Amino acid sequence: MALLADEGRFGQRPDVAVFADTGWEPDAVYDNVGWLEQQLSYPVVTVTADSDRSLQQAVTEGVNVRGRPWLTIPGWLADPDGNPAGVNWRQCTTDYKIAPIRAEVRKRLGLKPRSPIPDSTTVEMWLGISADEQIRMRISPDRWIMNRYPLVDSAMSRSDCIAWFAERWPDRRLPRSACAGCPYRSAESWAELRETEPHTFAEAVRIDTLLRSPDHHAFHMFRKRVFLHPRRVPLADAVDADAADTNPPPGAWGNDCAGVCGV
Ligand code: SF4
Repeated sequence: MALLADEGRFGQRPDVAVFADTGWEPDAVYDNVGWLEQQLSYPVVTVTADSDRSLQQAVTEGVNVRGRPWLTIPGWLADPDGNPAGVNWRQCTTDYKIAPIRAEVRKRLGLKPRSPIPDSTTVEMWLGISADEQIRMRISPDRWIMNRYPLVDSAMSRSDCIAWFAERWPDRRLPRSACAGCPYRSAESWAELRETEPHTFAEAVRIDTLLRSPDHHAFHMFRKRVFLHPRRVPLADAVDADAADTNPPPGAWGNDCAGVCGV
């Protein structure tokens, strides 16, 4: 979407592109953002949560963005017998993506934190959800922000985007922007991470194991076991099971109401 926008495909070019860095993206995403900065004629700014720890550190330590004991990602829960027992409430997107993006927009408007928004202010915010993901479209909860979905308006599916990109940059991968250990990853996405970034996958496996350790807050928070994979088995085993399954569980990006994860 950023590259198409720079070609003027969606009308006026954007003022700025904002990358909300949770501190837990795969290397390929950071590489892609660095590359994109060189391609675009408009600036790309990186924003982070107002916190002294990344999302990866927060999950590892079992705390939220303010350092209070919590599990902030939507981990899959199982009872002691291994039966599915729901999914944890997702707070990570709001704390590590939506709030930092909103703060950056306010800063660019010259507004101080918590100061009122003038009635005349309108921001058009473009989100890169593709036409096949339009179930994720939402009206902005901020009356001064109007969400726009240029790929949906242009009827471009994810495969259309990938084909357009591959024609111009055949030697570049186009990774999803999503945390390395995001519980919403699909079977395909986990397999790709294990294949392309074994060290990043190994770190996700370490954190997945940690979540079920009595030393971790999540162990006591739920009195249930927490997993990064919807199969609710240790991550490495789950990815092996996906590979042997003709119908592995789908990812849960559709649950991401904000549309800023996994695009
Ligand atoms: S990618 Fe996943 S873990 Fe990361 S902020 Fe989004 S929902 Fe949370």
